[in-house]
Amino acid sequence: MTQSNAAPDVAAGRLSDEEYARNFADLHPLLDPHEARVEADRCYFCHDAPCMQACPTSIDIPQFIRQISTGNPTGSAKTIYDQNILGGMCARVCPTETLCEQSCVREVAEGKPVKIGQLQRYATDHYMSTNDKTPYTRKAASSKRVAVVGAGPAGLACAHALAVEGHDIDLYDARAKAGGLNEFGIAAYKSVDNFAAREVDFILSIGGITLKAGQKLGTDIHLADLRSQYDAIFLSIGLGGVNDLGLENEAKDGVLNAVDYISELRQAKDLSSLPVGKRVVVIGGGMTAVDIAVQSRLLGAEDVTIAYRRGQDRMNASEYEQHLAQTNGVKILTWAQPKGLVAQNGHISGIELEKTRETGGALKGTGETVTLPADMVFKAVGQTLVPAVLNGSGPAPQIEKGRIVVDADRKTSLDDVWAGGDCVLGGEDLTVAAVEDGKIAAAAIHRALSA
Ligand SMILES: Cc1cc2nc3c(=O)[nH]c(=O)nc-3n(C[C@H](O)[C@H](O)[C@H](O)COP(=O)(O)OP(=O)(O)OC[C@H]3O[C@@H](n4cnc5c(N)ncnc54)[C@H](O)[C@@H]3O)c2cc1C
Ligand code: SF4
Repeated sequence: MTQSNAAPDVAAGRLSDEEYARNFADLHPLLDPHEARVEADRCYFCHDAPCMQACPTSIDIPQFIRQISTGNPTGSAKTIYDQNILGGMCARVCPTETLCEQSCVREVAEGKPVKIGQLQRYATDHYMSTNDKTPYTRKAASSKRVAVVGAGPAGLACAHALAVEGHDIDLYDARAKAGGLNEFGIAAYKSVDNFAAREVDFILSIGGITLKAGQKLGTDIHLADLRSQYDAIFLSIGLGGVNDLGLENEAKDGVLNAVDYISELRQAKDLSSLPVGKRVVVIGGGMTAVDIAVQSRLLGAEDVTIAYRRGQDRMNASEYEQHLAQTNGVKILTWAQPKGLVAQNGHISGIELEKTRETGGALKGTGETVTLPADMVFKAVGQTLVPAVLNGSGPAPQIEKGRIVVDADRKTSLDDVWAGGDCVLGGEDLTVAAVEDGKIAAAAIHRALSA
């Protein structure tokens, strides 16, 4: 294997304060009222609107856009929240280019969709800047208690919908802060100004939800105990584990899990304190791979390469995300899989990649290799459920392919336990899909508690 002799170059403070501020500024700054009205006027307010059908939470898009065009952003936000109480975050992070905007008739006809995501943000930001509570009031107390475990988008959406119905919710989370990947995962330039935490406060303002932070299922709390204490349980624990590459030298300094590093970045008070390699290689092809690659560049890494084992059209990251990576100077190397990690004096110094090809659907290494020098290697090859947290004295819900099995109502194999978001089988691993799962489960739990 080729050895790299250069000493690892990993350093904090590669940029000036102004450069950090510019690099991590809002990706899509808020439209002003005039821009919002002009954009809203581009909408045809289609009957059977295809954009609405493409929205996983079925937001009435023509209706909320019409409300913006008639000067009623508060009503518009209410239309959005009726279907998606995390409409503010979804406006920032939804891959609209593959959802509503891809289906917009103006995209189909002229390749220029109505900017639905930005209009949604305009309405919801207006609402949150002029109100400090959700626009709903709770129904009469039901005396039913529900435990929601995991305060990410799925758990928050479920807890809010159940609280509206009058149930009392204990919202558990292993971390000290709620928000899940909205707080710890989403790229920093998509969610600026502490928006994730502000949205959590907004959701909790409904009342009836008690946040129990720092309570980990499997350690501090156990499913069997929760089942004996509550009328229903909703599991929304996301994916707490990460896949490894399975290579020698993986434990050496400089080889990092992308999600752990992003979480540190999202919580950093001062970005100049974060060490980043001069030469960075990212292994993966999804949103996490793109996010860590782009953010490494924005932290001042000079040479960043995403290595993906198949063709670019097979990457899970959308075309828009791939384009974002490339316009930020990230190289995308396709048909290349990790074969070996080169280390020197206990630190990573390079990565050996083997060329791949697909034959009859099966991916095979060709034997041809290339070694890239690297001061940091980020693993972004998928997250996994940690099923051990569900084990305990009582039965655990059925798991298949490493995820919790649920039916159409998001009910698990246990009668009083529902689940949703990334931790369930068949999910899309998107914020908006997690919100929809939370909504569907809340409706089913409410029906069960009302029977
Ligand atoms: C780096 C990255 C970037 C992403 N970018 C985007 C994007 O731009 N757009 C998009 O739509 N989607 C994006 N996603 C996907 C999106 O963030 C997830 O699909 C979504 O957050 C899933 O929501 P969830 O509620 O199921 O889980 P999570 O958001 O993961 O929340 C799970 C919660 O459960 C808690 N928890 C875990 N284990 C336990 C336990 N044992 N006990 C108690 N609590 C526990 C966690 O602390 C966490 O708060 C991204 C994902 C990653 C990793
Ligand atoms: S498809 Fe486009 S034009 Fe039609 S209602 Fe939706 S946003 Fe408006």
